[in-house]
Amino acid sequence: MEHVQVLIAGGGIGGLSAAIWCQRLGLSCLLVEKADRLGGQLLHIHNELWDFPPRVYSQGSELLDELLHHPAIHRLDPRLEEAVVAIDPHERIITTTKTSYRADYLIIATGVSPNHIPALDGCPCVLPTSFSTTAQAARVTGQEIAVVGGGDRALESAVNLSKYASHVHLLVRKNQLRARSQWKSRAEALPNLSIWWETEIAAYEARSGKIALMLQAGRPDSPSEITVDWILPRIGVHGNSDAFPMLGTFGDSYLQTDGFQRAGSPWIYALGDVCNGAPYASLSLAVGQAMKAVKHISLQIQQP
Ligand SMILES: Cc1cc2nc3c(=O)[nH]c(=O)nc-3n(C[C@H](O)[C@H](O)[C@H](O)COP(=O)(O)OP(=O)(O)OC[C@H]3O[C@@H](n4cnc5c(N)ncnc54)[C@H](O)[C@@H]3O)c2cc1C
Repeated sequence: MEHVQVLIAGGGIGGLSAAIWCQRLGLSCLLVEKADRLGGQLLHIHNELWDFPPRVYSQGSELLDELLHHPAIHRLDPRLEEAVVAIDPHERIITTTKTSYRADYLIIATGVSPNHIPALDGCPCVLPTSFSTTAQAARVTGQEIAVVGGGDRALESAVNLSKYASHVHLLVRKNQLRARSQWKSRAEALPNLSIWWETEIAAYEARSGKIALMLQAGRPDSPSEITVDWILPRIGVHGNSDAFPMLGTFGDSYLQTDGFQRAGSPWIYALGDVCNGAPYASLSLAVGQAMKAVKHISLQIQQP
């Protein structure tokens, strides 16, 4: 069984920053990434990034290109298409989809995945969560669309799409929005945007090129069925922590960590979105946590 000093699970900006810090502090590391390429969510950001100082990036891929040119990332030999699926916290064994490793330390930087709507399983007209409502919005020109969710991203998407779509239905499960009030007032002012409160999708049916959505509505004025061309789910994300059921979680499967990013075990650390929760998900925080986790590991190793 291969022995590694630090095994990093996840090749988004958090995992890559951890790999840079491992090299900086003289630790050997191995990074395993579930996808066939590095980058994580950076691959799906089509908006401008202006809160990751000092540069403004036109989109995530521009920042990723620079990151991949970092000398430490050049030297990294990541194992792609290999996911961590289980760990033995006592033996320090990490099982992946391809093999097992024995590691002195594990850094979990597995990020988040979008929540999905089971009632839409198999529906051909569901837009991917990576769909950009700015760069790709022209695709829904003149069409009717349902956006599902009540947070900032759902409201922002609905408002953006209303510039192109003939009509936008915003389906909100609760009787109020989680989104900031400015989004609510912008949405309510739009003539081609309807908000259906206390409404959930119960089933769908394909009908002559369109999709009929059967709705479970809690209010008498809400429709029991609408017909749309596209559905865009924006119902939030959950931490990718399935492989670590023995570790403590909060909220939507986010890993609990202490002030040094330890996830309830002296050899297991977590950083980035998998442990931050949606309100704090950010590039800057993931990068800073990578420094803290790896520095703490290096100090543990130096101790007699
Ligand atoms: C549309 C959009 C816009 C955003 N805009 C901004 C912004 O303007 N400013 C900002 O600061 N932040 C923004 N963010 C948030 C920011 O992108 C994230 O906070 C950051 O990318 C999180 O990095 P991460 O490394 O923690 O996770 P991720 O980028 O999610 O990377 C996790 C990686 O782990 C891999 N993985 C998952 N499970 C496993 C496993 N079991 N084994 C191995 N690998 C695994 C995944 O494939 C993925 O590559 C945005 C996000 C999105 C989606």
